[in-house]
Amino acid sequence: MRVIVVGAGIVGLSSAYALTKAGADVTVVERGAIPNPLAASTDYHRLIRFAYGDSGGYARRIHEAFEAWRSMWADLGGPQERYYADRGVLSASQEAGDWTDRTRANMDALGIEYERIDGVAALAERFPFLEVANVSYGLLSAGGALMANHILIDLVWWLRGQGAAVLEHSPVETVDAANGAVTLQDGRRVEGDAVLLAAGVETARLLPDMALPLTPHRTIIVYAEPPEHLRAAFANAPCWTHLGGSPALWGMPPIGSLPAKLGASHLGRRDPDMANRAIGHDEMELMRSQYRGRFRDADQFVLRWGQANYWVHAPDERFYLRQADRAFVVSADSGHGFKFGALTGRDVSDALMGDVAIDVVAERLAGLQAAA
Ligand SMILES: Cc1cc2nc3c(=O)[nH]c(=O)nc-3n(C[C@H](O)[C@H](O)[C@H](O)COP(=O)(O)OP(=O)(O)OC[C@H]3O[C@@H](n4cnc5c(N)ncnc54)[C@H](O)[C@@H]3O)c2cc1C
Repeated sequence: MRVIVVGAGIVGLSSAYALTKAGADVTVVERGAIPNPLAASTDYHRLIRFAYGDSGGYARRIHEAFEAWRSMWADLGGPQERYYADRGVLSASQEAGDWTDRTRANMDALGIEYERIDGVAALAERFPFLEVANVSYGLLSAGGALMANHILIDLVWWLRGQGAAVLEHSPVETVDAANGAVTLQDGRRVEGDAVLLAAGVETARLLPDMALPLTPHRTIIVYAEPPEHLRAAFANAPCWTHLGGSPALWGMPPIGSLPAKLGASHLGRRDPDMANRAIGHDEMELMRSQYRGRFRDADQFVLRWGQANYWVHAPDERFYLRQADRAFVVSADSGHGFKFGALTGRDVSDALMGDVAIDVVAERLAGLQAAA
């Protein structure tokens, strides 16, 4: 089976990995270099977490996601620290029924372990970088930072080592779903038995007839150095998601030589030029302002650099797998897809190789599979 994988983000590369392991003859076609700075997957790190609000289907799959990563990393050959920083993930609840409180209820229902830290004094002592005035309790659960760029780079080495073709700087212009082939912008045609379209924000444009309900969503991140007097507090600090209130804050503490990464949901302006990933001082300061009152001395953080990126938003934030003739389309993003990369690759390979019915795989990806 010759499979052409369009797009070398984490979904395309993980699928290429799993398909190669399953015996397929794989060609990866990427419009730019890998990692491509325009890919949603490209950054130093991405969160993996059990904390998942109401989305029990996704929380339930995290154990499996970890297992898929570990098995992939064993093949890639680097030490685990190259791919993963095991820091734990902290969330905070301000009131009953908020995101963190729903996460806790969900974890109870699913038997997922966590530590609950009650009261302002205990939280302030344990996490001295937090401003905890409005917080009722903290929820610390397993997870951490997947070192995204390392994973992408090592996947490409592994694929080439296995004899897969990886074509960089080769934008796909059209997908021929009937014949399982693609035409590149320079006129070349690449023939296969099946095409897997994993082109991130470009996916819907490449197969417009499928009317995929996917829209690009711009978001920003800022790398920032905590002030000297908080360095010790951050030394072994957990990653965070949803620290109470709005917008939802997420990010990473300093890891290795990297500064902290500050993120916040639904932040940033619209920009009609999607290739422009630079952000200005105004947006960096906008990010800082979200952390005032949540991180101690947020005004003393030194803002190092920031960037804009895009994820592909599906209306219900679920992942999609669809088929049209010999073309398969996968979108596993909505801002939370990296953590499932290795597992998504396995799922996609199961469907393409005919090992599992596509409807069953699509349900798994959508986080809708019934509990075992
Ligand atoms: C700022 C930010 C923070 C995030 N944080 C997290 C997180 O903490 N945890 C988490 O799990 N997820 C997170 N996500 C989401 C996660 O990064 C994405 O779900 C995931 O990376 C999507 O991977 P992908 O392979 O589908 O898409 P992409 O990484 O975008 O890959 C698509 C690839 O297709 C290529 N391509 C496009 N068009 C063509 C063409 N015509 N021809 C050839 N190649 C083409 C692109 O260049 C790109 O390399 C975050 C996303 C962003 C933007």
